[in-house]
Amino acid sequence: HYNFCAGPAALPVAVLERARNELVDYQGRGLSVMEMSHRSDEFIAIAEQAEADFRQLLSVPDNYKVLFLQGGASMQFAMLPMNLLGQGGSANFIQTGIWGKKAISEVKRLGYACHLAGNSEAGGYVAVPSQDSLTLSADAAYLHYTSNETIGGLEFDYTPQVVREDGQHVPLVCDMSSNIMSKPINVADFGVIFAGAQKNIGPAGLTLAVVRDDLLGRAVPNTPSLFDYQMLADAGSMVNTPPTYAWYLAGLVFQWLRDDVGGLVAMDAINQRKAEKLYSAIDASDFYSNPIAVANRSRMNVPFVLADSALDKAFLQEADQAGLLNLKGHRSVGGMRASLYNAVPEEAVDALVAFMADFEQRRG
Ligand code: PLP
Repeated sequence: HYNFCAGPAALPVAVLERARNELVDYQGRGLSVMEMSHRSDEFIAIAEQAEADFRQLLSVPDNYKVLFLQGGASMQFAMLPMNLLGQGGSANFIQTGIWGKKAISEVKRLGYACHLAGNSEAGGYVAVPSQDSLTLSADAAYLHYTSNETIGGLEFDYTPQVVREDGQHVPLVCDMSSNIMSKPINVADFGVIFAGAQKNIGPAGLTLAVVRDDLLGRAVPNTPSLFDYQMLADAGSMVNTPPTYAWYLAGLVFQWLRDDVGGLVAMDAINQRKAEKLYSAIDASDFYSNPIAVANRSRMNVPFVLADSALDKAFLQEADQAGLLNLKGHRSVGGMRASLYNAVPEEAVDALVAFMADFEQRRG
């Protein structure tokens, strides 16, 4: 079976098997990681190793904190303005889909000022706005964008570099929930990177934030301690009990990426091949289509529709029977969506492409 779910998503089989083997008795200690105190030497070692491996994989510079948080990426939508607008100004956004829009509505809900520096909603989110078209507000405190919109299947092919009219660079904040660790990135380009874990990192609930040191300690007054990056950083992400088991599983995923895959350059090449295979199959047929501008097609989430949507149900049913799971598109867009995260092997894409050709031949 292959799992094409958009999230919570497939985990590497090797990681699940190792977790199973260690579930009841972690390395002969006679207890499960789930039962360990988060203050114990055993768990601290697990936590520190996970952070070290994450830092190594992404080449995180020393002037960034890596926080292991809870609440999902959606909680960051609220934590970001609370942490970054303490000195006033407005949150600027590039809106390229549903997740960016949700982040904006959360900032508005909290009563902070917002400005759209770019928005591709009018065109139906089929392309990202060009770098030249982006306009920051004069009071921009940061610019938030979504490097990969999971539902629309739209991925940035560039890192926005935006300078305010007064020449000031503003921190770039990126929601990388659905493409973090799919390729190398230059962390130094960003003020804050955050990601819900449930696609490329581990179990849902765990949330990673990578925060540049100069952005700590600037929260608005009355920010709850669990929302305050500075307090979380000072406590090593342990202001309260962290999601210990999810943290451990994330660590296993990082070890898999490093040792089994060979790091993010190797992962990037594999992801590139997987996406190319599927998009080529879609483009080669009149029966399947994907609406996204070629340069912005997501390598992680590939939405596609059938020429005759009356066949959707049969397609999904037969795919499921063939062991190709969770291909149904998001309820807001319909059609199909194949998510090709890191843990989805190349053979899964081969099997999907073969199934699609066969289905077209029989039903198209
Ligand atoms: N941002 C992006 C790009 C996502 O894909 C998702 C979830 O799928 C979220 C944010 C929300 O994540 P969470 O459910 O962890 O809050």
